Amino acid sequence: MNRSRSPFDRLRQKFDRSELRCRACGHVDSDGTWRVTSSGSRVRYQHICPACDAIDTREMRLE
Ligand SMILES: [Zn+2]
Repeated sequence: MNRSRSPFDRLRQKFDRSELRCRACGHVDSDGTWRVTSSGSRVRYQHICPACDAIDTREMRLE
């Protein structure tokens, strides 16, 4: 347990461990990471496929 981690970091780690697989073309971006932006209590994660430039967006709420 690392208490210095922010909720953002914990969520991002969760996403980093999940599959970074493009929904459009199926490319698996094994070195990819999620780009994180936030506004208020909402956090948006985006991953841009390096193969086809499709943008995968997920949105979460901080609790
Ligand atoms: Zn793709």
